[in-house]
Amino acid sequence: MAVEHYKMFIDGKWVDSSSGETFDVVNPATEETIAKVPLGTKQDAKSAIHAARKAFDSGVWPEKTPMERASILWKIAEVVEKNSLHLAQLESRNVGKTIKYSRDSDLPFIIDNLRFFSGAIRNMEGKASMNYSGMGLSIIKREPIGVIAAIIPWNYPLYIAMWKIAPALAAGNTLVIKPASYTPLSLLEFAKITEKLLPKGVLNIVTGPGDIIGTELASSANVDMVALTGDISTGKKIMQAASSNIKKVHLELGGKAPMIILPDASLDAVTEGAIVSAFWNTAQDCTASTRVYVHESMHDAFVSMLVKKASKIRIGDPGRESTDMGPLVSARQRDRTEEYVKTGLKEGARLVFGGHRPKGMKKGFYFEPTIFTNVKQNMRICQEEIFGPVLSVLKYRSVDEAVEKANDVIYGLAASVWGTDVTQVMNVASRLKFGEVWINEHGVLVSEMPHGGFKQSGFGKDLSMYALEEYTQVKHIYIDQTGLARKPWYYVVYGDK
Ligand code: NAD
Repeated sequence: MAVEHYKMFIDGKWVDSSSGETFDVVNPATEETIAKVPLGTKQDAKSAIHAARKAFDSGVWPEKTPMERASILWKIAEVVEKNSLHLAQLESRNVGKTIKYSRDSDLPFIIDNLRFFSGAIRNMEGKASMNYSGMGLSIIKREPIGVIAAIIPWNYPLYIAMWKIAPALAAGNTLVIKPASYTPLSLLEFAKITEKLLPKGVLNIVTGPGDIIGTELASSANVDMVALTGDISTGKKIMQAASSNIKKVHLELGGKAPMIILPDASLDAVTEGAIVSAFWNTAQDCTASTRVYVHESMHDAFVSMLVKKASKIRIGDPGRESTDMGPLVSARQRDRTEEYVKTGLKEGARLVFGGHRPKGMKKGFYFEPTIFTNVKQNMRICQEEIFGPVLSVLKYRSVDEAVEKANDVIYGLAASVWGTDVTQVMNVASRLKFGEVWINEHGVLVSEMPHGGFKQSGFGKDLSMYALEEYTQVKHIYIDQTGLARKPWYYVVYGDK
């Protein structure tokens, strides 16, 4: 396949890097270069910010009515839908995710997101309008924030970009987006197919290194808000950089999701759930269930059924319809997973499945689905986010112990609890310190409900009306109703009552 040359999208124009340099984008299944993309510079980031600033300040986007913005977002959804197979194939080739996952999960959700926010913005309203002071009327108005910088990870390139693009644009902001360097293609392709629908400067894309482009976006005084989905360490740097002009920060960071399996849970359901939620997207998912807490009474039966099901996962070419698991996104991510497996063994965990690069696969960053038992709470494989297909199984005696251990990590993004006693599952769900808890399921997201973490998994919500609120700011407008030149309370400052 020919190597495609991409440009960045700034101020409605397709441009090269100001340095003229490019970087290679690789297909993780074949290790072949599939595209060359501009290696953006600080200057390019500044140009994109300037374009977004101009577009915002001119009013060309924020002053459109919600109906006008909604109808454009709806048209964008239609164009994406028309091109969805192409986008899914590109995403699969660039990320290594299976075509069935990309086509039947990512793309439909992207389209639904655009449609949801297109409708949601027309339903946005202020919360109060009353005469609180007795002398004047208060109105709450929600306004766009301004220029938003969105910084995107590589695991769901277009899908997570859309979680930011759709609410930010719906609310009337303008955007500069930086995709991850491993996976910039679907976002650039998205801009190509939708470029005619938005006024110039409203959506800008700069490709290049996080520590240059990302840092400029996070620190620029011309950016009003920075939204990152990424690693905790990146989140910390962004918070620091954002302090330069006290810009709003929205952080969706890592996870280490527990699954608590109560003794009355169905063995078949929990093993199905564990396999799916631990290994989807080759486990490069911040909500992936990576720690399974199983009651001692069913531990051995659970492990034996889990291993049997794991052996059915078909690893291979992500473009093939029958493939269940593709490669990891990069050699770095594969090596990191391999290192964690070594660490688990050194720490005394028992490897009961996988743990290696699949035999006979000479090319591609593949790694077997891997299961450890005998995992202890303080082991690194239990505490740290691996972002590779490694599942830890931990045995517990009492429900209190399971809840305490599930909560005992720095993360707080997502968790699940499985069982049939309604009172008990509901009580456990309430005690879990995570932003999202599923009961007898793991990982279902919908446009209408918020997604976002507690603790070091970040703050601010993606999806739902809460995301729309994130991309607006609240203004209190007060209208005097006395009509008096000298209001009754002025005496407290000067003169008498
Ligand atoms: P990353 O933090 O390495 O990179 C994310 C983005 O930040 C990339 O575009 C990168 O170029 C940019 N970046 C890197 N250094 C930067 C800096 N100094 N300043 C500004 N930007 C910088 O994360 P990743 O490896 O791409 O993605 C994996 C991480 O994302 C995992 O920790 C995962 O849990 C997290 N994640 C979280 C969610 C969620 O919803 N909470 C969803 C998906 C992924």
